[in-house]
Amino acid sequence: MANASDPATNPLLKPGVLPAFSAIKPEHVEPAVRELLASQRQALSAAERVATPDLDWLRDLERISVEIDRVWGPVYHLNSVVSSPPLRDAFNRCLPLVTEFGTELGQNTALYRHFDTLQASVGSARPVEQQVIANALRDFRLGGVTLEGAARDRYREVMQQLAAKQATFEQNVMDATDAFEHRETNAQALAGLPEFVLDRARALATERGFEGWCLRLDPPTYQTVLAHAESPALREKYYQAWVTRASDQGPHAGRWDNSQLIEEIMALRHEAAQLVGFKTFAEYSLATKMAESPQRVIEFLRDLARRSLDVAREELSQVSAYAGRRLESWDVPFYAERLKQEKLELAEEELRPYFPLPRVLEGLFTLCGRLFDLNVTEAAQPDVWHDSVRYYELRRTDGTLVGSFFTDLFARPNKRGGAWMGGCVSRAKLNGHTQLPVAHLVCNFNAPSGDTPSLLTHTEVVTLFHEFGHTLHHVLTEVDYPSVAGTNGVAWDAVELPSQFLENYCWRPEVLAEIGRHYRTGEPLPRAKIDKLNRSRTFLAALGMVRQIEFALFDFRLHDEYEPARGSRVQEILAQVRNEVAVIEPPAYNRSAHSFGHIFAGGYAAGYYSYKWAEVLAADAFAAFEESGVFDRTTADRFRRAVLATGGSRKALEAFVEFRGRQPTLDALLKQAGIAQRQ
Ligand SMILES: [Zn+2]
Repeated sequence: MANASDPATNPLLKPGVLPAFSAIKPEHVEPAVRELLASQRQALSAAERVATPDLDWLRDLERISVEIDRVWGPVYHLNSVVSSPPLRDAFNRCLPLVTEFGTELGQNTALYRHFDTLQASVGSARPVEQQVIANALRDFRLGGVTLEGAARDRYREVMQQLAAKQATFEQNVMDATDAFEHRETNAQALAGLPEFVLDRARALATERGFEGWCLRLDPPTYQTVLAHAESPALREKYYQAWVTRASDQGPHAGRWDNSQLIEEIMALRHEAAQLVGFKTFAEYSLATKMAESPQRVIEFLRDLARRSLDVAREELSQVSAYAGRRLESWDVPFYAERLKQEKLELAEEELRPYFPLPRVLEGLFTLCGRLFDLNVTEAAQPDVWHDSVRYYELRRTDGTLVGSFFTDLFARPNKRGGAWMGGCVSRAKLNGHTQLPVAHLVCNFNAPSGDTPSLLTHTEVVTLFHEFGHTLHHVLTEVDYPSVAGTNGVAWDAVELPSQFLENYCWRPEVLAEIGRHYRTGEPLPRAKIDKLNRSRTFLAALGMVRQIEFALFDFRLHDEYEPARGSRVQEILAQVRNEVAVIEPPAYNRSAHSFGHIFAGGYAAGYYSYKWAEVLAADAFAAFEESGVFDRTTADRFRRAVLATGGSRKALEAFVEFRGRQPTLDALLKQAGIAQRQ
């Protein structure tokens, strides 16, 4: 029998840049990860023993992340795109080992001292190296490296407890969501719901052994009920179930109540932040972001609110006037949808035949060539994990290879939902040889069937452009240090700049004319539909804007104003924020914070504002293109050099200012959302 830790038979351990994906089996995972971590621990102790750290030492240390990506990267990727119970088990067994290695590294005092020494000896003439070192020192401090004795132990304990409590928070939300069902035997009560939702509900009822319909509370069903159900009673029932999940209110009041967990999570975060020298968790969060201070974030959100509120109020009164009465929270999406259909006469599904995926991809690659002087071509396929995966190379017009990417674009069982770009290989200089970047571009579109290609909605086209923006950021990097190459090391609130920037092209008539062709007749997307599509972009945009500001301001103030003696004051702060920036008054039972996983379970704590922050940068960057012509190559080249090529090797604000010639302003986003024109 082959020995799984033998590099000759374990594809994860074979030397080479890309693994033979199709040969990787669950039994290869654990031996490879153990082998990887053992060899990297040796590399670490060799790095600790160096007498005087220099730039070679720094480059050697960067190889650790290259090695982790090389072995663990494919495991992580395959578990997302072709998962199976044995692979998931192997992944789950190894995840704590990899995490533990990260924690050890973060608290390695010897390496921290070496970085400190190196910082003093590397001059300012080497800004990239300075940034790599500054990031490393920052991450060591955030990892608690400077703590000693009991404080050090306490910090690790706090971080572990936080991870566990955040996971429980999410679990409660999932359980509360799954526990809800609406059973219906009267077809009239479901009037307005689309056929495909009713079909699913009928199938579920049969599965449950009764005649009728059974609806669940998953996000798509919730959104569909709120937007389409004609019965106000059904909409209210759904609204109430949704906004009281995992709380002391609603149909399962007290059952999976997150109230206590919120208190504990807030207290632990505050303690962790103070242990490593910050006043609040908000400050701790900003240590890895572009926004320079808590005041700046709050000012930013208030400024955006101030400029959107009047328009949002006006939009709400438009919807109320259309409905002919005062609207409750569960009425707004329903009447907004009706008003939209009446005003724009445009249904999303109507455009699908005009966006066949092959044509859209071709148009996207042409755009990329036009902007950045690059050719994207499908290349001889290295080994892949699924038949539908494709591999593309980006080359300069003189033929020089810049990087490459895999596309895995179709939904199938055992593949994680949503869309994302993942780094497969980061650009790095190793032994004088440059390793070129490779990206994974993953979506979940309908697969082609028979002679019919995959047909996209416009929203899906936007998703594809968004992820391709991330792909360009990863692949067009010119940085040789993997920790700051591509999207690595980019401030969290700036990383969505290239992706949201590229989205703008999906609305341009010139681009729509190129990518929008009927898949059977070849007829171009009619100009009237292009105009309607653009009107839909700004339809009730201010209402959406103030809602996002409400979430962001709540999240930030909660973390910024936390005091242990007073507790989290979730409902109090939420009420104040709503008073300030909301236009729709929710009912008293609303406990939406209790299911706000982004901030209590995910990575967006004191960081939810990042969505709007990056959107401002993206809109402002695109405005520069609108000023010079959206296909202007000089502007594109400046954008490539200042933003895309430099990745995390310089401060995001500096990169932006170099490109734009000034600080970012809110104007372009307000104009893009159609708000500026109506102020
Ligand atoms: Zn993104």
